[in-house]
Order: sequence, then C-alpha cells, then structure tokens
Amino acid sequence: MRLVSFRRQDAVRLGAELEGGVVDLNQVYAAQLADRGEADAEVRAATDVPPDILAFLAGGETALAAARDAIAFATDHAELLLPAGELELLPPVPRPPKIICVARNYGEHAAEANLNVLEHPNLFIRFAQSLIPHEAPILVPKVSKNVDWEAELAVIIGRPGKHVTKEAALDHVAGYSIFNDVSIRDWQLRVPQFGAGKNFDASGPFGPALVTKDEIPDPQALKIELELNGEVMQSASTADMVFSVADLIEHISAFATLEPGDVIATGTPSGVGFVRKPPRFLEPGDTVRIEIERVGVLENPVAAEKS
Ligand code: MG
Repeated sequence: MRLVSFRRQDAVRLGAELEGGVVDLNQVYAAQLADRGEADAEVRAATDVPPDILAFLAGGETALAAARDAIAFATDHAELLLPAGELELLPPVPRPPKIICVARNYGEHAAEANLNVLEHPNLFIRFAQSLIPHEAPILVPKVSKNVDWEAELAVIIGRPGKHVTKEAALDHVAGYSIFNDVSIRDWQLRVPQFGAGKNFDASGPFGPALVTKDEIPDPQALKIELELNGEVMQSASTADMVFSVADLIEHISAFATLEPGDVIATGTPSGVGFVRKPPRFLEPGDTVRIEIERVGVLENPVAAEKS
C-alpha cells in the first residue's frame, strides 16, 4: 500500500495511490459501509480509518485491514478515485511527532568528509516545520549559498515501543519513504551542533508516499540513487548502512519511546556536494531526484527564498 497525505477542501486527508488515481480511504470506507447498509457509516469510518495518518498508524492492523477493504471497493468503483495530478500532496506524515536523523551512517560518506565511523549512532533532530512534499521547491536561503543534498531512506514507525530489541525492531515499522536531508553546510559545520544547518525552512523533502512494509521485505537491500539535473551524484545500497534500521530502532527506543508516525532518516551515502572538487551546491533552477528501489521517486525543484 502506498499511503499519501493530501489537502482537500481545507482538510488533511489520507489516501492510497492506485494505478488509476488516489483513494480517499476514510471517505471510500464510509461509502463502502453505507453500500452494505450499515448504520453510522461515517462514525465507524472515522474510527476505523481516520483521515489523519497519525491516528491511522495508531490503529495498527485494524486500520490497515479497513484500508485494504476500501481499496478493494474503490477498485470496483473507479468513479471514487481522485485524479492524482489534481491533489495538493503533503509529506506522507505531515507533522511527525519526532524526526530523528542519523549522521555518518554510510562508511564511504564518513570517509569523503574525512570523518571516522562512530561506535554509536550519531543522531540529530529536525523540526517538522522544515518538511516539504514531493515536487515542492527546496529553497536556497537568503543567508547561504551552501545548499547540499543527502538522499536517505526514511523509516516510519507504526507500533509504539520502548526498549525494542533488534530482533523485534521491524515489527514496529509501518513503512518506508524517501528523505532528502538538505543541509546548509556553512551553518551546519561552523558550530559543533547541527541544529541550525539541518532545520532551514523548506529543507526537508519527504515522500511522496509511505510504502507499507509488506512491500519491502528487506530494508537493507535497496538501491538508493540521487540525480542532480539528470546527473547521478549518489548511488549506493542500503546494505551499506553502518547501523541498520533494526539497530537504530533498538538504539533510539532505549532512550525515547517511539510513537506512531515518528520518522527516522537513516543517513546518506557518499556523493554529496560540499566534498566535491570544486564543491557543488544546489542553485535555483536545479532539480533533485531521488529514487529508492521499491519505495519510489522523490523529486524537487530548487528555488530562491523570496523576501
Ligand atoms: Mg543526513
């Protein structure tokens, strides 16, 4: 299932992408219940398939099963599908409770930055405010020209957990998406903490969809590639992560309870711009395209911040 969040008539809705369009899961589930003659269809749909993805993920298998029902119903009622091109897409989780990012999680990326791989995961935090959806512009801010790209596999938590073992870790995953951990390098590297350089407005492309984990049996066997204006800049496999998705969930849940909708951006492979000779940074007019096998394509133009 490819879950998307979108805005429709001033409300945030949850959909599933099909070949022919997008299913508004809550609305279609209500239509399906009404079609079966069930009373209080809308009330039950609001409980079983809430339109907010955080509530939906908290619903676990019950919500997923109802969503599958709605998709089957929409497959037989094509008039219920919304044209994908006309929707205002949002990040798949528009306001994650936590966005936890991992630095230096690919050995070759650490090496290109003249850094060692660390013994423990090196984490930093992003604001939800920095997120932008598929096809929204990455902004080159007024205060810097050092705007760099970082293709990353994003993990979205489904089942909450504390002290999750590595063995049980993937049971807590709802699915996967794509993250571009756009970094304002001068602001990032001139001080010891990444807080500012990783939290500029419109610096967190995320999406387009949350692909449920049943479609991705092994998150450590995915090709990940980033193209700038059609030129391949990063190309690697998630097999090369220093700390696997399961390692990261075990580590993070040792100190913070993981909640539905939390996002873990798992770090970037080698091939970023600031270590190139000469350095290369994003400029207005550029297009950044990230493709992760089985997960999809996240593409964003680059524009200048307006006054
Ligand atoms: Mg990163």
